Parts: sequence; C-alpha cells; structure tokens
Amino acid sequence: MRIQALPTQLVNQIAAGEVVERPASVVKELVENCFDAGASQIHLDIEQGGLRQIRIRDNGCGIFKEDLGLALSRHATSKISSLADLEQVLSMGFRGEALPSISSVARLSLISRTADAACAWKVSADGSETELDPQPDPHPPGTTVDVRDLFYNTPARRKFLKTEKTEFAHIEALIQKLALSRFDVGFVLQHNQKEVLNFKPAADDAARLKRVAGVCGPQFVENAVTIDFSASGLELSGWVGLPTFSRSQPDMQFFYVNGRLIKDRLVAHAIKQAYQDVLYHGRHPVFVLYLNLDPALVDVNAHPAKLEVRFREGRMVHDFLFQALHRSLAAQRPEAAGPELK
Ligand code: ADP
Ligand code: MG
Repeated sequence: MRIQALPTQLVNQIAAGEVVERPASVVKELVENCFDAGASQIHLDIEQGGLRQIRIRDNGCGIFKEDLGLALSRHATSKISSLADLEQVLSMGFRGEALPSISSVARLSLISRTADAACAWKVSADGSETELDPQPDPHPPGTTVDVRDLFYNTPARRKFLKTEKTEFAHIEALIQKLALSRFDVGFVLQHNQKEVLNFKPAADDAARLKRVAGVCGPQFVENAVTIDFSASGLELSGWVGLPTFSRSQPDMQFFYVNGRLIKDRLVAHAIKQAYQDVLYHGRHPVFVLYLNLDPALVDVNAHPAKLEVRFREGRMVHDFLFQALHRSLAAQRPEAAGPELK
C-alpha cells in the first residue's frame, strides 16, 4: 500500500470525531466562540433537539469579510499565534478546529459583521463544498452560525443520537452550565420556537444568586455557604451546599477553572475529602465553584474538547481546595470553630 494524504473533508471528519459527539457539543463550541468574541448577548434557536437546526447569534466583535473563509479552515485561529500564547491562553478556543469540524459533518453557514463594516457577509459550507465567495447580508454587528442536519453525511454517527427530547435536554443542561460561567452574558434559549431559558446579564450579587437559583434551585441558595478564599496566587469563589443539602447523585456539581467548566479527578478528590466527615456515605455535595489561577499553571490543551485540564502544581491545588472548603464547612459548625488559621 502506498501512503497518500487524506482529502480535507475526511481529515475534518476525523477531527470532528473528537469534538462533535452530539448536538450539545456543537452548541458548546459555538457558544465558546461567542464568549471569545466578547459577546454580551447570545441567542440560541434549536429545532428538533438540534438534529434539524442549531442557530446561534451573538453581538460580539464579528469576523472580517476577508477572514470568513479562514474561519472555516482547519488550524486557523485568531486566538493564538505562538507557543507562548498557548501557554498563557485565556480564550475558550485556540485550536482552530471547531468550525471546519462541524462543517464537515453538517451544513453550516456563517454570517458575520464587524462593528464598522457597512453590512454583514455570509459564507456556507456543507462538507464537500465550501462557498467561499462571501455574499452580503443584512445581519447586525456580530455573528450567526447556522448548523443544519448534523451528521447527515455520516450515518454511523447519526445512529448514536438519542431522541430529540434527550438531545435537547443535553443542550439545556449545557446552557445552564455555561450561564454559570459568565454572569455578565445574557442567554436566550429557544426550542422549536418556544423560549425555554432566558438569563438576563447579571451585574450584582443579587442577580448572580438569582441565576444560580435558576439553575440549582432556590433551596440551594438558601442552603449554601459562600466561598471566597485566596492563597498563594490561587483564588476560589462560589457557593457550596451545606452537608444537610446533599443529593443522591453527583448531578449538581459545577467547577470552573479560569471560566472553563471542567471535570478533574484531583478536584473531585479534594472536594470529596473536604466533605468526608460531614456528609453521609453515598451522598453527594452540591457546588458551584470558580478557581482562578495563573493560566501558565494549568494546561488546557490536554483534551480536544477541553473538558480536562492538567495542573502544573497538582498537589498545591488539591491542598488549597481542601483547606478552603474544609474551613468553610467547619465554620458552619459552632462547636468546631477553632482558632482562625491563615
Ligand atoms: P478557535 O475558536 O479555536 O479559534 P473555531 O473553529 O471555533 O476555532 O473558530 C475559528 C475562528 O473563527 C476563531 O478563531 C474566530 O476568529 C472566528 N470565530 C468563530 N466564531 C466566532 C464568533 N461567534 N464571533 C467572532 N469570531 C468568530
Ligand atoms: Mg472555537
């Protein structure tokens, strides 16, 4: 067998295998792009659980007409340009893979307008063909990405999709998670033309708590301890549920590192330990926590969908989390209030 270079569409479809598992993964990539574009308002229109259509509009910085084609090409990004940038990255994206991957397994159109452009421009791609000749469009400043017929050309993938209802449930849960990562951004989520979620931008503590209550339920807010802790360059803030407000499943646990929702064993372990003495066996705590640290201390390029991170100083992060939570929880028990430690 001779070696041959694979056609672009196939390369993109292989890449799509890593990040585009279901409609919700498309939504995640597109909303993160809105965040990176500095949007303050994001509007999502979903049809049939996202199987038929996912349309996401933002009021962010937009894309220059000349860059629209590049936005759909692999490894093209406006977010980093060197290894040094990668090591300090604070944007959600940087791999330049989402749009080309999605467009290789769906029909995608991209409409965008920068603040000082006279009109918006539209390009479309449906895997095999890319319409790179931008057409004028009356869209306001910002960007709309429209994704139709996900996996229409990859039947093996389509087979793994669940019902419309289940796929939409994944999208709704995702938007709740993303909404807790950016209180300053407003979100409207519609499914089959009906409004399902509407989070207004939250500027003060009361508004933020209202959003938390909207996601975790009002009882959580009434049964939570506010966390605000910092030591050696690490900052932890957010809310943790009192041990008496636990759940039988670990289904209400949100942990963000520099604004990015992650799942991490080290983090999970530290939290579990902090609750160990105060929680009944088999119960799970509820938490919404934000860890902020120097981006150089965390590698976000460990997973294509960036759901996992690697901490450079894992032990230190673990101990910091444990201490912060352990003390906050202990402070809730009057008999345990010992001398204040620094
Ligand atoms: P990445 O986010 O890793 O850069 P993507 O494939 O998701 O890669 O997007 C490619 C590029 O398209 C981005 O770097 C950005 O310049 C542009 N882009 C995508 N979505 C938007 C958006 N909603 N607003 C402005 N620019 C966008
Ligand atoms: Mg992206």
